[in-house]
Amino acid sequence: MSKDHQVKAKKHLGQHFLNDESIAEKIANTLSFEGYKHVLEIGPGMGVLTKYLLKKETKTHVIEIDTESVEFLKNNYLNLADRVIEQDFLKYDLNLIFNHEPFAIIGNFPYNISTQIVFKTLEMRNQVPEFSGMFQKEVAQRICSKEGSKVYGILSVLVQAFYHAEYLFTVPPSVFNPPPKVESGVLLLKRKANYTLSCNEAMLFKVVKTAFQQRRKTLRNSLKTFNLSDNLKANSIFDKRPEQLAVQEFIELTKLIETDVEQ
Ligand code: SAH
Repeated sequence: MSKDHQVKAKKHLGQHFLNDESIAEKIANTLSFEGYKHVLEIGPGMGVLTKYLLKKETKTHVIEIDTESVEFLKNNYLNLADRVIEQDFLKYDLNLIFNHEPFAIIGNFPYNISTQIVFKTLEMRNQVPEFSGMFQKEVAQRICSKEGSKVYGILSVLVQAFYHAEYLFTVPPSVFNPPPKVESGVLLLKRKANYTLSCNEAMLFKVVKTAFQQRRKTLRNSLKTFNLSDNLKANSIFDKRPEQLAVQEFIELTKLIETDVEQ
């Protein structure tokens, strides 16, 4: 393949290439590049963001599923060649590269795997102090939303338990090739200084997911499968619906449930 041969956008890989350099640079600059030596870009495509990341002192690694894009990157960014991982981000064991060291995540990646990318990031939260990514606008807004909002849900609570979530700016369809049908939004996550929770973290995931499966029911009803004692269920927190609980209240609820289950 010649050096300047362009990658043809493939729908099944969710490819919408960003063609606005100033937005690419703006996204690359959303990370602080402090407190970690490595940055992982998910889905670099033809490297529009990558070239700005390569200007930083941190080591840029990219993970890309598309062979044609991988070839393009290796031909056009020679100093990146041995840090191009041709793999599916969702399946790859990142510690083969990072060996338990911290790294930041960044990317303009496909909308249809963006929530799975966030869940995988949460699993790796001990190693990921910062995350910046392009999402469908509504998804980015949902992740940042607070209790009481109609769009507050599982991802809002779980992300905000560990990270400060900030909606940075909206990106119109016209700056992508081909343009997507939706508006996009860039979301920044910065891990909280104290991200070790006072409850059992695995239990928090279970409680939040179960509660929001039936978001219109009270917690007394939606959390039936936990077989809680009548004594505990008399607590007025169980009169509430999941969207009324702030993140900290979910943590308190999880602590109550933990001690109840232990008895
Ligand atoms: N970041 C580039 C490309 C955006 S398109 C730009 O802004 O122009 C999304 C990119 O993610 C494509 O290159 C696609 O091949 C890649 N991709 C899709 N699924 C992936 C996965 N599971 N793991 C890694 N990369 C993936």
